Amino acid sequence: MDDKLMLMIPGPTPVPEKVLSAMAKHPIGHRSGDFSKIQAEIVENLKWLHQTQNDVLILAASGTGAMEAGIINFLSAGDRVLVGCNGKFGDRWAEVCDAYGVNAERITAEWGQPLGPEQFRERLERDREKQIKAVIITHSETSAGVINDLETINRHVKAHGEALIIVDTVTSLGATNVPVDEWGLDVVGSGSQKGYMMPPGLGFVSVSAKAWEAYKTAKLPRYYLDLGKYRKSAAKDTTPFTPAINLFFALQTALQMMKAEGLETIFARHHRQSRATRSAIAALGLPLFTTDECSSPAITAVAPDRVDAEQIRSVMRKRFDIALAGGQDHLKGKIFRIGHLGFVADRDILSAIAALEATLQELGYESFSPGAGIAAAAKSFNAL
Ligand SMILES: *Cc1c(COP(=O)(O)O)cnc(C)c1O
Repeated sequence: MDDKLMLMIPGPTPVPEKVLSAMAKHPIGHRSGDFSKIQAEIVENLKWLHQTQNDVLILAASGTGAMEAGIINFLSAGDRVLVGCNGKFGDRWAEVCDAYGVNAERITAEWGQPLGPEQFRERLERDREKQIKAVIITHSETSAGVINDLETINRHVKAHGEALIIVDTVTSLGATNVPVDEWGLDVVGSGSQKGYMMPPGLGFVSVSAKAWEAYKTAKLPRYYLDLGKYRKSAAKDTTPFTPAINLFFALQTALQMMKAEGLETIFARHHRQSRATRSAIAALGLPLFTTDECSSPAITAVAPDRVDAEQIRSVMRKRFDIALAGGQDHLKGKIFRIGHLGFVADRDILSAIAALEATLQELGYESFSPGAGIAAAAKSFNAL
């Protein structure tokens, strides 16, 4: 059936009609007062979302562009950094460092396991000469559905005193609490197609005063992604280059919707949906890929053992127009991932679980009593 696609992948995520229609108009000139007014409102609301007084800069880029900017503006070739690697995105930030000649030491954990804060503490305490310039962490590691203990790791970074904390919050911002000022997060990157309820195309970077100090002496090459240019323009409510103007219209509306819902309500919704999804999956006898303690509130990763993950995805897509994500790299075919990030209602979770039950039956997987998943999800919702 045409136009019934339900995106349950961890990005791009569903977009409200209101946001779609906000985009459906002629672009306006970006050197106009009208545009500056929009930008001023957006920036104020971005600071609200990030819980910060720091600069929050907007790039025409995907999340990777935002993170690349967040790394290269504050470092020099040969600088030593620690990078948390327990999935595809952590690996990616280490590769960005490699590409620019930054000396990245990878602190690893198995995909599906959280990073060990103790490993960071130990490395940072040993660094008496304060050579470690930054610690780069992926808060919610989308590829494995894991949330890392950013708060504890960051405490060790603060105890070190010198190193910046650079965080990928692409699937945690707008899903769970990321209090940028309270925790003192120096650089925080995110992307529009994840928790923002809008299409891909915008990247966001928040930058602390401490990071701006590092910017002054950082020597890596930068031009389009030179955040100093964005900061200078933002002071005049504009952008250094042509912005993705229609995406600004979308962002304006999306942020208004988020403000009306309220941060606490948004976070509670994501955690509630994560719990309901996990209890449904467990009731269907499908193994969860992560423990409750480290599961991302935005993504549920499932590792089915007696039924093929790719077949599940295929039937869900063809039969029910529900898009689920597969596994990446060595997890391809081994897991599937349900995204519940951004514009997702409890009703969507119930629909997805019902379709999953029907899919499992179609594939001849009979290890559950019909309705068990829905009953578990409903019970979880009602328990709150
Ligand atoms: C989606 C995502 C990104 C950004 O990917 P892009 O495709 O560049 O937008 C970065 N980190 C995480 C954890 C993500 O989920």
